[in-house]
Amino acid sequence: MDCKSSLNADLVISNINVIDIKKGTVIGDQCVAIKGDRIIRIAPQGAYRFQAQTIVDGSNKYLIPGLWDMHVHIREYESIFFPLLITHGVTGIRDMFNPTVEDPGEWKSRVNSTNGYKPKLLQVASDIVDAPPIRWPGSIVIEHPDSAQVVVEKMKDKGADFIKIYDKLSEPVFRSIARECDRQKIPFAGHIPDHISLEDAIMAGQKSIEHLDDISLNLSPKSSSHRKRLKEASGKLSFNAYRAFKQQITVQSLSERDELLVEKLMGLMKKNSCWPGTAIFTIFDQLSNRPYPDMRNKDFGLNYYPDSLAVAYRESLQRPLPSAIQSNIRKLLLAKLKLLEDFERFDVPFLVGSDASPARAIVPGISLHRELEIMSRANISNATLLKSATLYPALFVGNERDYGTVSENKIADLVILSGNPLEDISNTQKIEAVILNGEHITREELQKMLKEVESKAGIK
Ligand SMILES: [Zn+2]
Repeated sequence: MDCKSSLNADLVISNINVIDIKKGTVIGDQCVAIKGDRIIRIAPQGAYRFQAQTIVDGSNKYLIPGLWDMHVHIREYESIFFPLLITHGVTGIRDMFNPTVEDPGEWKSRVNSTNGYKPKLLQVASDIVDAPPIRWPGSIVIEHPDSAQVVVEKMKDKGADFIKIYDKLSEPVFRSIARECDRQKIPFAGHIPDHISLEDAIMAGQKSIEHLDDISLNLSPKSSSHRKRLKEASGKLSFNAYRAFKQQITVQSLSERDELLVEKLMGLMKKNSCWPGTAIFTIFDQLSNRPYPDMRNKDFGLNYYPDSLAVAYRESLQRPLPSAIQSNIRKLLLAKLKLLEDFERFDVPFLVGSDASPARAIVPGISLHRELEIMSRANISNATLLKSATLYPALFVGNERDYGTVSENKIADLVILSGNPLEDISNTQKIEAVILNGEHITREELQKMLKEVESKAGIK
C-alpha cells in the first residue's frame, strides 16, 4: 500500500499544463481536481490518489480560466448568443445595455439562477443615459441636471450594476450624474461625453471607459480646443456628419500625441481605478473593412446569425467604405494598439470587450477571439492579453475570490486548450473542452451545440 493521500473528486484533469495567469507562466504536469462547482486541489501529477467519476487526460494541453467578454449586448438573442459564448470558452460577460429588458436586475438574476449552458452575467448596465440627438433607441434622455437624481434612483432600483453614460450629455448633467452616483453608491461607466475631458471623467469617478477613441482624443495638448470645436459643430451638423467630424478630430489629435500627457493620464487612470475597455473590433463592424489582409478569410460567424440579421451584414460585405474613411479607421486602429502598449508600460489594467451585438456584424464568442487577435498586433505580451480576459475582469467586478485564475477554491469555469496561449494568443481558439460550474463539456458536445445554433439560422 502506498502512502499517498487519496482525495475524492467529481472531475479530475490529469497531466495538464496550468497557465499561471498572474505570472504568465506554464506549470507543467498538474492534476486539477474539481468537486461540485469548485476546484478543490491543484497538485503535481502523482501527489495524490484521486477517486473521481470522470478523469480527463490533459497531456499536452493547457488549462486557463474561462474567458470573459466585458462588453456585449445580448438583447433578445439569449438562445443563440449564450451557446455561442460557451462554445467559444466565454464563461462570463458584462452586458452594456439591453433595451429589450424592462428590469436589468431581474434579467440578471433569471439568467444566473436558471439551468443550462450559459455564461455568468456578471454585470448589467442601466439604460443608456444620453441627450439628443440620441444614438440608440431606448436611451433615457437627460437634459437638465436636476433630472439625474430620479434617473439614477430608478435604474438602481431596477438592479442595474452601473449607470451607462453616453456621448451627448452636457457637462452640468454629467457632473450631476457623477454626484448622484457617488451619493447613491452606484458606479457610472460607458463613453466619455463629448464635452468632458478624460481627466475630468477620471476625477469624477468614471469606472470604465469603453472604446479607446474616447481616450485617444485626450492625448493631444490641444484637446480642450478640439472639444470646443466639437461643441460648436454639434448643433449644426447632421448626426452622421458630426460623427465623421469627430472621427476627423480624433485622427488629428493622434498626430499631436504628447508623451508627458500620456504618462500623466495613465497615472491618473491607475491611481483612480478607471478601467479602459478595448472594444477595438467595433470599428470593423462593416465586414468589407477587415483590418488586415490575413484576417479577410477568417470566420466571423455570420452563419450563426438568424437570417433577419445576417442579410444586411452580408450586403455590407459588397459595399467597401470610401478610402478616406478606410484610412482614418486604419490610423485610429494603430492609435488604439499604441494605447494598449501604454497600458502595459504604465501597468494600467484594462478589460477586453468585443462589443458583440446583433446591431453589428460582431458575433458573440467568435468576436472575443477576433478582439484578442487584433490586440496582439500591439507590441504587448500574450500574458497581458490573457489577463485582460480573465484576472482583470475578476478584479473589476470585485470577485477575485471566485474567478480570474486557475486556483484552488475558485469556481471551476475553465477552458482546456490544445495550444499554449502564452506562445500565440490565437491558441485560445483551440478549445478542447469547456468546464462550466465543474461540468465537463467535451469538444463533441461543443460542436453539437454550434451545429444546433447554425441550424436555427436562416442561411445554411
Ligand atoms: Zn456597446
